[in-house]
Amino acid sequence: MQDKIYVDGGWRAASDGGTLPVIDPATEEVFHHIAAATESDASEAVHAAYRAFHGGWSTTMGAKRAEYLRRFSQAIKSRLNELAQLEVRDNGKPFPEAAWDISDAAHCFDLYARYAEDLDARQGHEVELPDRHFKSRVYYEPAGVAALITPWNYPLLMAVWKVAAALAAGCTVVLKPSQVASLTCLELGIIASEVGLPDGVINILPGRGSVLGPTLTKHPLVAKVAFTGSGSVGSEVGVNAIGEIKQTTLELGGKSPMIIFEDADIDEAVEWTLFGVFWNKGEVCSATSRLLVAKPIANTFLSRLKSATERIRIGSGFEEGVKLGPLISAAQYQAVMKYIEIGRSEANLLTGGQRAPGFEKGYFVAPTIFTDVPTDARIWREEIFGPVLAVRTFDDEAEALSIANDSEFGLAGAVITKDPARAERVARALEAGVVWVNCSQPTFAEVPWGGVKQSGIGRELGVWGINSFLEVKQVTERRSAEPWGWFTGK
Ligand code: NAD
Repeated sequence: MQDKIYVDGGWRAASDGGTLPVIDPATEEVFHHIAAATESDASEAVHAAYRAFHGGWSTTMGAKRAEYLRRFSQAIKSRLNELAQLEVRDNGKPFPEAAWDISDAAHCFDLYARYAEDLDARQGHEVELPDRHFKSRVYYEPAGVAALITPWNYPLLMAVWKVAAALAAGCTVVLKPSQVASLTCLELGIIASEVGLPDGVINILPGRGSVLGPTLTKHPLVAKVAFTGSGSVGSEVGVNAIGEIKQTTLELGGKSPMIIFEDADIDEAVEWTLFGVFWNKGEVCSATSRLLVAKPIANTFLSRLKSATERIRIGSGFEEGVKLGPLISAAQYQAVMKYIEIGRSEANLLTGGQRAPGFEKGYFVAPTIFTDVPTDARIWREEIFGPVLAVRTFDDEAEALSIANDSEFGLAGAVITKDPARAERVARALEAGVVWVNCSQPTFAEVPWGGVKQSGIGRELGVWGINSFLEVKQVTERRSAEPWGWFTGK
């Protein structure tokens, strides 16, 4: 386990020697300490990234960068087990989910290797002009030093979505993982040295966002800020970064609806409801945590949902068969328990509503479902980021859509129906960047990710991900030998 800061290809302690404890959420034990980088460490990391950008990385061919990215992927695959275990210890998620994340991270590097190669082929593309005396070509150039600020819910994966796209584009990066779960991100530094990535191309700063965030987001040598996290911090990041006219991407929170129509297969609908809100302990930005069920099937559906929820195995992420691990931290546990208290006064508690029974230590919350939730209830409108589902019923499609879209967020949504025409209609009408049909949550690195409204600005993943780290340049050339003579008349 690394415990230092990775800057300019080397490891060192924080400039003031400060550290942060690392806590196992299943046992509440401090099992490690990591460096808490300072503002001056952040500034040094940015300078190292700037030197590396201008020292050759920005002008390497995409094909060369692709070689490094594939080596990252290989290195991650070869230590999948070890990285997944580290993620479980740091974050609490069940091991199979962690293994899934790590293998997605490896895939993401492979995919962006391909996009880096494609970038070479995209360069210098000619655009036809209406005036035959001129011709224009379009080039894609890396934005510059990218500051990447990431959350704790998918520690490695959320970082890799950004790191892989940025490196593929030819940017150099300063990665600031969440102080609550940094361990797998620090492993990226070890891998960077192992695969021979030039010094300074990637720099990793564990530490507090309140300390490092303002330095990174306002630094004059940072050209691009890519942030994933809460709306309140995202708004501050946006003000800082856009205020300094930096390219900015914000991936923020959500309160996504799932609409289950009366023609749905009820058992499948129960499965996807559970997966949509309880996987990764409900600490998922796109969790479908607002459920709308058609009235004719509501009673049968809710009774099956209740018994399936009560059968969910809760425990340490290392235990075989566990589907719900502890929440990430004491602060998150308290925040979720507070929402559960609020929910008790706003709606009917169907199941859960308490600390998971049988656990004396660890941040375990019983999966919780509230029904008959009014649309103005806080548990209906606010992101809880824990295993809490809010349910209400609806009469028809128009009503379901109007309730679903009545939200400040617009990250994701899901529709469960056997009617393909209705699925398409609802998918198009939902105000969201991501819509699932007859499922919820499967996420592929090939397709765009991001939200509308308060859920963010911009898109990650797929070609949209690499494009978000590129600047576009036009080169327009006069092809005619005839004199121009506008002013001189010649
Ligand atoms: P957070 O906003 O508390 O922290 C995110 C990151 O910002 C962390 O690295 C943190 O250290 C840093 N930070 C804190 N203060 C900062 C400041 N003043 N300036 C700059 N950076 C600062 O979020 P979190 O609790 O880590 O993650 C949960 C949130 O992330 C949820 O709202 C969730 O919906 C969102 N999220 C969104 C997506 C998405 O793709 N849209 C994905 C995952 C998580």
